[in-house]
Amino acid sequence: MNTLKTRAAATVDALAGELEVLSHRIHAHPELGFQEVEASGWLAEFLAAQGFAVERGVAGVATAFRATVGAGAGPTIAILCEYDALPGIGHACGHNVIAAAGAGAGAALAALGGALPPGRILVIGTPAEEGGGGKVKLIEGGVFADVDCAMMVHAFDRNVLHQNLLGVTRARLEWSGKAAHASVDPWAGVNALDACIQTFSAVAMLRQQMRPDCRIHGIITEGGTADNIIPERAAAVFSVRAPTIDGMWALYERVIACAEGAARATGTGIEVNPLDVVYEPLTSSATLLDLFGANMRSLGLPLDEPVADRTASSDIGNVSQVVPTIHPWIAIAPKGMAIHTREFLDAARGPLARAGLVAGAQALAMTALDLLAEPALVARARGALAAG
Ligand SMILES: [Zn+2]
Ligand SMILES: [Zn+2]
Repeated sequence: MNTLKTRAAATVDALAGELEVLSHRIHAHPELGFQEVEASGWLAEFLAAQGFAVERGVAGVATAFRATVGAGAGPTIAILCEYDALPGIGHACGHNVIAAAGAGAGAALAALGGALPPGRILVIGTPAEEGGGGKVKLIEGGVFADVDCAMMVHAFDRNVLHQNLLGVTRARLEWSGKAAHASVDPWAGVNALDACIQTFSAVAMLRQQMRPDCRIHGIITEGGTADNIIPERAAAVFSVRAPTIDGMWALYERVIACAEGAARATGTGIEVNPLDVVYEPLTSSATLLDLFGANMRSLGLPLDEPVADRTASSDIGNVSQVVPTIHPWIAIAPKGMAIHTREFLDAARGPLARAGLVAGAQALAMTALDLLAEPALVARARGALAAG
């Protein structure tokens, strides 16, 4: 390991306690997407104290930030922090660890001061990954326009350099019927809940004809107000995921057809309201993955093979379509533990989370140093993305 990398790794080790406190603080105050006022504030304060120039509320997104260090002509390398939580189960995706790892990598690079090779390091705070597409808003707002390479780590139960991320689109389906007394005059009613439940049944049948690498999942958000009233309104939210954007839209059309068929069968009205923005599949930069993998190995960290059927989606996919990007997964929990669970929520503040935080921060900082020290690697990564 070269001297700068050794120094960066040592800085992360020295800051590990402080970074863990930051991670635990975010974990203890879970905030939903675009409401991460405290988390983004704590991260911005930490980075400012490490010598970063911090801008809060970039691209019109109040809980986004951009922190900058570095000088001279050279590449601009972005390290991304996520810090939004899940409704009901808090930081069961470990975004508190992602945030602290990104901030820790930035701190390690800032601590190199004048020894940092020419170029800029940005630590970008990207809200609302779990829904809302904060990164898409930052792309649209030009935050990635002058970024040459982007990277982040995500919490997982193992270390994996690349996992496929599916394209995803979401929609709210609303059926409207007619209220009536469910015992006295049921025939005077039109049951919107029936349409909703029939949609779930039709989608369940559709799954048999669906490719195994696609996903459809939904919840009922409105299903009536009292059991003695025929429900006049029902609503559901569905996500539809596929490895390609075209495949995603084709599957989405079939889900909408299920809902429309159910509306027809029950005599209800239906409204389809698209939600959020589309998350695109992840295209990982091979150049960046090679560097990150080599740094993980030099830290003595084991690397696992991708797990083909554990596929998520993220707005990092959209970033990867415009900038060479990687999204490696870092172990913060025992192997085999599922994410978005109560168990993973606990793991995200446990001893393995501290180890994963340190590993992620070190590997991110070392990979950024590789890129600053050898801008030809940046040019190669950008060339590969442009060539598709
Ligand atoms: Zn998640
Ligand atoms: Zn996540």
